[in-house]
Amino acid sequence: MKDLQKGLSIGGIQGHNRRVILAALQDKGTCSRKEISVATGLDQATVTRAIAPLLDDGVVEEVGLARGERGRRSINLSFSGSGRYILCLRLQRRSFSIGVFNLRGDLLESTEVRIARESSAKETFGEISEILDGQIAKLEQVDGIGVAVPGPFLERDERVILMTESPQWQGFGLIPELRSRYPDVPVHSTHDAKAAALIEWHRHARALGSRVMLYLSAGQGIGSALVVDGHVHRGAQGLAGELGHTSISVDGELCKCGNRGCLELFTSRISLLRAIRGRAGDVGETRLTCSSSFAQVLDAYEAGDELAVEEVHRVARYLAQGITNCINFANPDLVVIGDEYAGFGQRFLDRIKVHVKSAVLPSIYDAVAVELSHQSEDTVLRGAYLDVLAQTHLGSPREVPEILFEQVAGEA
Ligand SMILES: [Zn+2]
Repeated sequence: MKDLQKGLSIGGIQGHNRRVILAALQDKGTCSRKEISVATGLDQATVTRAIAPLLDDGVVEEVGLARGERGRRSINLSFSGSGRYILCLRLQRRSFSIGVFNLRGDLLESTEVRIARESSAKETFGEISEILDGQIAKLEQVDGIGVAVPGPFLERDERVILMTESPQWQGFGLIPELRSRYPDVPVHSTHDAKAAALIEWHRHARALGSRVMLYLSAGQGIGSALVVDGHVHRGAQGLAGELGHTSISVDGELCKCGNRGCLELFTSRISLLRAIRGRAGDVGETRLTCSSSFAQVLDAYEAGDELAVEEVHRVARYLAQGITNCINFANPDLVVIGDEYAGFGQRFLDRIKVHVKSAVLPSIYDAVAVELSHQSEDTVLRGAYLDVLAQTHLGSPREVPEILFEQVAGEA
């Protein structure tokens, strides 16, 4: 840090200290000034000085006493629980969700709204902004709006270039529309799988010491993200991780992206439901019908329903192929399958692992753990919150500053 500070002006040093302190606070959740001092390497007086304006601005608050060394008590700090908020929007093909977070990261309220098949982008935008308008009118101060969208999403240009099954969004400038409607609130956008992957890494993979994690987001769409040493690999245009548009069949159906046999065409929730509904009348032993919902498929699979098991295991085989391709390409030590398909549980995971094991060399298979995500909340929404917090308060374009990751590496 000393080397870094040499080249900075006083204002630059103060800004840097502020970011590093907030990053430490974000990482720890709640801690004392002394703990921040230890974590950041800044002396306690500097920490105290830097914290004072953050308390005045309501970014940080004091939250009771912590028992320190030799029974001495110190006041704990955390990001504020009230007064300043972050709104997050998750757009999917068939629904959107809006979450209200305080700066501390507590999800205070969330709403999920189904998107009717015939709705235009403009109509859905109207529904989204109605909810956002209501929240903005109600909340004291909104520090930012985070938007998480499915890929292929050009993060650098903030442009959704393709949403299979939802062509109405192509050509609709969701992010510019939000910015023009809410000119006083910073709007930040991110790719949904990358947002969720970062949370999965923070909460799970980091403790395992994972160096390279593949996060596979499987549900209404199929996305993925690679987290390397705590950093999400974004690619030249911010497009990296489009596993859903890698092919598992060169003679397969033509995808809207121009490729044939894309993984997403075989495995998305939409294609799974289509297959099940199409066969429901022809399979004798099934409780599923031509109008069954995804929730009903989850229940039927758990109950061992013949049609559900057959179709879900077909999807498992295809997903395993996508994972195998990624294992051979990127050599992850951890693969986490998240989003709605995590709900299929252990039997589904075992099925995937059988196929992956048979397709990769034993020494590679032995060095990679394949798991289902155990996060109980919507990690895409939370990832969007963290993205806004990072960009508005931690001074990082995308993630929490590197210092934290260096520190973690040092602790390991
Ligand atoms: Zn495709």
